[in-house]
Amino acid sequence: MATWKIWIGAVILLCAACVYGEEYDLVILGGRVMDPETMLDAKLNVGVKDGIIATITPDSITGTETIDASGHVVAPGFIDTHFHALDGLSMKMAARDGVTTGMDLEIGAININDWYAAKKNKWPVNYGVGISQEGVRMLVHDPEAKIQGWQDAPTILGPLQKATTADGVAGWASKVSNREEMNQILQLLDEGFAQGAINLASTTAYMREGLTAQEMYESQKLAADWGRFTASHTRYHGSSSDPEAEQGANELIANAFVLDAGLLILHNNDYGWAQIEEKLQAGRAKGLNWWSEYYPYDAASTAIGSGFFQPEVFVDRMGGDYERDMYDPTQDKFLTKEEYEKIAKSDPGRLVVIFSPARKKWLPQWLRIPHMTVASDAIFSGKGVDSWDLDWSEYQGHPRTGGTRAKVIRLGREQGVPLMFSLAQMSYWPAYHLGKAGLESMKVRGRMQEGMVADIVVFDPLKTRETSTYKAGEQGNPSTGIPYVIVNGQQVVKDNKFLKVWAGQPIRYPSSNDSKFEPISEEEWLDRHAIRTHSVHENLRSLGEPDDTH
Ligand SMILES: [Zn+2]
Repeated sequence: MATWKIWIGAVILLCAACVYGEEYDLVILGGRVMDPETMLDAKLNVGVKDGIIATITPDSITGTETIDASGHVVAPGFIDTHFHALDGLSMKMAARDGVTTGMDLEIGAININDWYAAKKNKWPVNYGVGISQEGVRMLVHDPEAKIQGWQDAPTILGPLQKATTADGVAGWASKVSNREEMNQILQLLDEGFAQGAINLASTTAYMREGLTAQEMYESQKLAADWGRFTASHTRYHGSSSDPEAEQGANELIANAFVLDAGLLILHNNDYGWAQIEEKLQAGRAKGLNWWSEYYPYDAASTAIGSGFFQPEVFVDRMGGDYERDMYDPTQDKFLTKEEYEKIAKSDPGRLVVIFSPARKKWLPQWLRIPHMTVASDAIFSGKGVDSWDLDWSEYQGHPRTGGTRAKVIRLGREQGVPLMFSLAQMSYWPAYHLGKAGLESMKVRGRMQEGMVADIVVFDPLKTRETSTYKAGEQGNPSTGIPYVIVNGQQVVKDNKFLKVWAGQPIRYPSSNDSKFEPISEEEWLDRHAIRTHSVHENLRSLGEPDDTH
């Protein structure tokens, strides 16, 4: 009787398994699984459950959903630390390029809690942001802009930059802070860190007149007090001379060294890059958490109103030539000096593409530099957060937004770079350095290992390539050869189609009620850094003289 009961029980249990689903939520079968941390490189099956990589095995497994990955690489999803693609159209281009985490650590945001709240359950890939030094300087130096609520790249670079010039002076860029203003700025940065901002996000070069060396040091110091790193578009970025680009990096490196702090040199793909890389390597050899990024293009893109495009800087100091170097994608043409001057005034936020002959030569070298990570500097489309359904041809901007990863894979293939190395540049090293900075959510990403978060990209190593170009109408073309992109276990790209699946999770530090801000004052400084004065009596006593000064 008892045996009979057990037997019936077993049958019921087996049927439950066949009715209520498979072993895993998702299985990826027969692909070449590659993990840059352990150097795993083998044909295996991957089982995903509850958003986690539950198994990587040669055994056959089943799942509710199945991806046939034969002929494809199964790798950790790409992690972008320089990501302004914060609206629907640009975001879906990046997803088609294999991005599973996109963080704006350069322009960043203000009102960090509100920024994260606005993305919650509304974003396809993992999202994160730094506290915006530029935005904070706008709050203090440009009260006429009347800034309220959270702001990030699409507004900071667009309408806000315009609003801050309403009084004729972009204060955030050109005003030197007095002590009181510097304290206000530091206090706002402090609030950003308390709310979990990933880093000090600094567009240093854009503020080169107003942002003093002291303010930069104090800002890096505050970040370091919070255990956060600084990421910077360095002060003389892109300049071949007067002063050399490397000098701008030296400022940050010196600060980070004495502060024992983390440092990310943003888009280190320009003049001085090799020496900067050497210093970052030397820092890492001393245990410092220093690294850099590049995007694989010989042209940059930024707002036409930026101060360094004025002829005194762009032509006289940086060796630029408007008609040769400055391309306006909106009009699909290169600009004369007169056209530049007109647009810089009427539409300072318009993005232009700047070509650099030197970068052509350097690009193959960047593909082979360890810990030089791939980050796209992806640019928003300007078509609004909800522009998910717009056609690719409507994107106007730099082709790197949609093509960075596929281009690195293609160039690596053509130039003999080991694929595992390229994957480390695109996923493992960003995760490694962010994890080392204390971001728990990054210690479990960027790796194809059991127990890690299932952020996964499936691509054809022989066919993956970018299709976006600089030409108007083609700038937003999606990459090909990347049929599946999985974020926290959910398919965001499936059969080469972007799905509006809000799978993204926040990447941030826990928020706290702490403050590390201490106002700068002369007395405070002396208190800390100078010895106390003694009375005349004490001086005499220390000399062994009789004290007769009464
Ligand atoms: Zn930049």
